[in-house]
Amino acid sequence: MTSLPTLPLVPPGARGTCDTDLALDPWQVDTRPGYGPGASAADPIPPGAPRQGGLPELYKRLGDEELRRRIVAAKQALGERVVVLGHFYQRDEVIDHADVVGDSFQLARAATERTEAETIVFCGVHFMAETADVLSPGHQRVILPNLAAGCSMADMATIEDVEAAWSQLTELYAGQDADVDPEDTRLPVLPVTYMNSSAAIKAFCGHHGGIVCTSSNARSVLDWAFARARRVIFFPDQHLGRNTARAMGVPLEAMPVWNPREPLGGNDPQSLHDARVILWQGFCSVHKRFTVEQIDRARAEHPGVRIIVHPECSMEVVDAADESGSTDHITKAVAAAEPGTTFGIGTEINLVRRLAAQYPQHTIFCLDPVVCPCSTMYRIHPGYLAWVLERLVDGETVNQVQVPPEVQDGSRLALERMLACRAGDRPADATGRSS
Ligand code: SF4
Repeated sequence: MTSLPTLPLVPPGARGTCDTDLALDPWQVDTRPGYGPGASAADPIPPGAPRQGGLPELYKRLGDEELRRRIVAAKQALGERVVVLGHFYQRDEVIDHADVVGDSFQLARAATERTEAETIVFCGVHFMAETADVLSPGHQRVILPNLAAGCSMADMATIEDVEAAWSQLTELYAGQDADVDPEDTRLPVLPVTYMNSSAAIKAFCGHHGGIVCTSSNARSVLDWAFARARRVIFFPDQHLGRNTARAMGVPLEAMPVWNPREPLGGNDPQSLHDARVILWQGFCSVHKRFTVEQIDRARAEHPGVRIIVHPECSMEVVDAADESGSTDHITKAVAAAEPGTTFGIGTEINLVRRLAAQYPQHTIFCLDPVVCPCSTMYRIHPGYLAWVLERLVDGETVNQVQVPPEVQDGSRLALERMLACRAGDRPADATGRSS
């Protein structure tokens, strides 16, 4: 792909960074208990989450130009045997080497289409590498350059907590739904998980009649789910679930939040009985930083500004924006706009800065005046990319992400249901009840 200029860490108008540790290299924070500098620094990593072993000292000492030269040389040596995928939120000095750039699902699909590549180097986060491993043919292996690149949101729904919630809900509904009309053959509850979840959660959904969604197709997927179940439990992002279901007409009082630390998720049995969507208490540390005050300030300082936010932002922020949509929606909206449009964007800073560089005919700024990247994407430094590629040149595979076969099967089932699902798959009215 075309190389873009590396943008300064603190763009003009920004008010510093959210964490002074952003000046550190990732290997200085890989062994710390949190996710490292950035928006999710304060969130706890659950036990069992993958950790990165030591990066060889050589790669810590190499300068930017030498790393670039070595990455280019290794990619040339590997040729079509390797494909490098880069997520929209990745830093520019890594994106410069990506063969494909996109959101998590676009990248997983791209991986399946590059069948000539024996190795997929996924410059994203752990759940994305898992999805690529599930969807890719057996002869391909997937490498995550830094295993410490997790996702704080995905880690908010552990398989243990999800199974505990499921057993409470199925027991509750077995009693409550005993008098349901026998003509109503829908399930009492069906699990739906956002792509940003572990393969174990996707497999759980696959094994329980459920499905995966992305931020682009969440509405179609909920339509599909409502046609098959009286209720949905939505993992792990409460905001995407709430924003999507509310836009479909589901009232807020029918969307209780499930706190995995409380019995019945902190809810009373009646509210769970009346629920249409049970929202797992997860969130994205990056997108929760966007506020209505930032939008008000942007409108005051830039009359006529077009505000677009990601649906992982809170409902109040989505309401205050002109529109909300996935990273794909945001990039297409910017590309299609009349020259001279001013955009205030509520999503991760690396994508916003890249859009600003790619579309100089517009004025594009991030709504958050404090620079705060996704701290886990930040873990993929060119030093790790150079290391894994040079090991491949030497015939050695490091940092392979392998989903166990039994998890692969359930996960693939939930993903395939998503791929087969179409909006209006079966009619559902605005409250989600089948007609
Ligand atoms: S931006 Fe948020 S949801 Fe996306 S990888 Fe980072 S922490 Fe996870």
